[in-house]
This record gives sequence, C-alpha cells and structure tokens, in this order.
Amino acid sequence: MTLATDHPEIRDAVARLCADFPGEYWRAKDRDSAYPKEFVDALTRAGYLAALIPQVYGGAGLGLSAAAAILEEIHRSGGNASACHAQMYTMGAVLRHGSDEQKQRYLPAIAQGDLRLQAFGVTEPDSGSDTTALTTFARREGDTYFVSGQKIWTSRAAQSDLMLLLARTTPRHEAMKRTDGLSLLLVDMRAANPASLSIRPLRTMLNHSTTEVFFDNLEVPVANRIGEEGHGFRYILCGMNAERILIAAECIGDAKWFIAAASKYASERVVFGRPIGQNQGVQFPIAQAYARMRSAELMLREATSLYEQGENPGEEANLAKMLAAEASWAAGEACLQTHGGFGFANEYDIERKFRETRLYQVAPVSTNLILSYIAEHALGMPRSY
Ligand SMILES: Cc1cc2nc3c(=O)[nH]c(=O)nc-3n(C[C@H](O)[C@H](O)[C@H](O)COP(=O)(O)OP(=O)(O)OC[C@H]3O[C@@H](n4cnc5c(N)ncnc54)[C@H](O)[C@@H]3O)c2cc1C
Repeated sequence: MTLATDHPEIRDAVARLCADFPGEYWRAKDRDSAYPKEFVDALTRAGYLAALIPQVYGGAGLGLSAAAAILEEIHRSGGNASACHAQMYTMGAVLRHGSDEQKQRYLPAIAQGDLRLQAFGVTEPDSGSDTTALTTFARREGDTYFVSGQKIWTSRAAQSDLMLLLARTTPRHEAMKRTDGLSLLLVDMRAANPASLSIRPLRTMLNHSTTEVFFDNLEVPVANRIGEEGHGFRYILCGMNAERILIAAECIGDAKWFIAAASKYASERVVFGRPIGQNQGVQFPIAQAYARMRSAELMLREATSLYEQGENPGEEANLAKMLAAEASWAAGEACLQTHGGFGFANEYDIERKFRETRLYQVAPVSTNLILSYIAEHALGMPRSY
C-alpha cells in the first residue's frame, strides 16, 4: 500500500533524474575514485538537497519522509547518495541551534546550492565510537578559537565549503561530565590558511570521498560557534535520529535494488534446462531478504512518522537503521549468490553495491553501539561503556 508520506510523485521525479546516471556512470566514478559531481549538480539544481530547509530560507520546507523518499529512490535506482546526503541534513545543526544571524547568513546560500555544508568532523583516530574521548582542541583567545588536532573519516571535506566540527573547548578532566566541554564550530574551509588546515584523501573499499583532516592552530571566529560553548555534544545527539532515519532509507533503497536484480536474473537465467529461480534454494534467500526489507521498512515508517510528529524517536531510529542495514546486506548476499560468477563482474554493478551497502553496519554508527543503546534505553539494562 502507498501512503501519502511515501511521496510517490517525488519518487517518480527522482527516478527520472537518476535514469540519466546509469550503472556505467557510477562504475566509472567508482573505478576512478572520483566525485560524482554531475549527479550532485543535477540533484542540487532540482532542489532536492534543499528539501529539509524551511521555505523562509529558500528551501523546499519538506518533512523527513520526503528526504527519506529522495535518498531511498537514489539507492533503489542503483546510485549512491553518500556523495551529497549530508548536504541535506548537516544544516540541521544551524537550523536548530544557530543564531538568527547564522541562519540568515548560511541557510539561503545552502538552499540555493551556492554554499556546501556537507562535511562533519567528529571521529578521530583515537576516539572511535567513544565520541567524548576526542581531543581536537579549540583554544579561545578573545574573539577567536585556535583549533589543533586531527579528524579521520571526514567525508566530503574536499567537496565542501564549510565543515561542522566537534572540538573540545574544555579538557575532558576539567569538564563536569564527559559529555560537557565539547563545542560545535562552523569552519569556513575556503578562508583557511593552508598551513593550518590540510585535507588528505583516504582510499577505501568504496568510493566515498572520505578524508583525514589536520588542524594546526586554525583560526575560527567565535562568531562561528553554533549554540553555547560546551554544549556541542547535546547538539549533535539531536541530529542523530534524523541521520539514522535517512541512512535507513538508503539501505532500504539498496535492498530493493538487490532484490529486483536477483529476482529478474533468477527468472531469466536457465541452467539444467530451467530458470534457476525455479529452485527453492535460489528463491528462498531472495524471498527471505524481501521479508527482512519489508519489516525494516515498517520500522523506518514508524520512526519517520514519530519524528515528523515532533517526537525524539531514538529507539525507532536506531532500530530502523540497524534492521535496514542488515536487510540490505542480506539482499546483497542473496543477489550476489544468485548471479553466480557474474555477480563478481563489474558490469553488473552488484559487487559495487555490495561494497557500498556494507558500510552501513559500521557508519555512521556500528551495530554494536545500536544494540548497546537498545539494551540500555529500551530494556533498562546497565550501560556497558
Ligand atoms: C567510509 C566512512 C565514512 C565515514 N564518514 C564519517 C564522517 O563524515 N564524519 C565522521 O565524523 N565520521 C565518519 N566515519 C566514521 C564512523 O562514524 C566510524 O567509523 C564509526 O562510528 C565507528 O568508529 P570506529 O571506526 O572508530 O570503530 P571503533 O569505535 O574502534 O569500533 C570498532 C569495533 O568495535 C566495536 N565496539 C567498540 N566499542 C564497543 C563497545 N563498547 N561494545 C561493543 N562493541 C564495541 C564497534 O562496534 C566496531 O565493530 C566514517 C567511516 C567510514 C568507514
């Protein structure tokens, strides 16, 4: 059944746009580790990346279900939204916690596509999932912070004008709680002195434009701090449910792509004189993946609907992300196995999507951390870390 919140018109329009960027396009970008600029430009021109920005700032003013539909459709059509999904939601920190002046300065330009805010620097080599252990430090002198330290896995830093940076402004041992003393800064990388900011691409298993970023006394005006000093961790937690819901939508899109490819191939490929899909050993893993995808999709709808009603659906957003990432992986596995040797051939795009969808069990949050959240917050068990 199609619900209004499924946004069928948006899905159709996104699918038409994606048809101009077929498998060959994504394969070439993957092979060359190149940024899919033409695709991102087309999405920007069509206004999709401004979906969540309120109309008063020049965006489309749509809800999270519309953004989820856009991202799901990109993935369902065989593409990958990771090159630009953060342009949709990173601005949420400015929208929710920025001053009026910051909103006026940044949001209209982001909505127009003239300003890119799609780099989010949180993870550090030594902090890992323990975000509050990060050590990148912003030392304040008058109206300026001097930032020193290192981030890792800062995706799209080289394709962004601004970076949302989480840095310590009070050393951990001096903070009342470990979640205190972190601040959120908007770093204008265009204005940065190259001796103070360097970005190094990291080659990875998938084409993700991810980088290491080094800060050496980088000057950031205090006016670029989002919200109050020391409250940055709370601000990023606020945005995590939206991010998890949107990533879950991408996983559902991947799962649908794998399931469609697997069922088609299973119906057409004839071995031993009959379609391989006539064998239950081939059918069942695909049907199983479909069942997992549909149940994850229900959880995603629940999380999105609660979010749009103004709730803070931590449990549902986490479950949707975990179940959808598991469903897309199961679908990828079934699709690869169904294709036999051809699943390994680049031209089928299966091995590329297989690598791409694997990421979601690790980033932006790994499955174990979601299970810890559920154990603690939904089941009331003791905190394990
Ligand atoms: C391609 C890519 C893009 C990324 N983009 C960004 C980005 O743009 N910005 C950004 O800030 N970060 C980004 N990340 C980082 C990502 O969010 C982290 O990799 C992820 O949060 C896991 O952290 P870690 O890699 O340090 O793993 P670790 O924290 O070292 O964990 C390693 C393993 O141990 C498990 N583990 C750790 N602690 C526990 C525990 N207490 N209980 C049970 N299991 C535990 C984890 O689940 C995981 O399986 C990206 C990562 C990748 C790979």
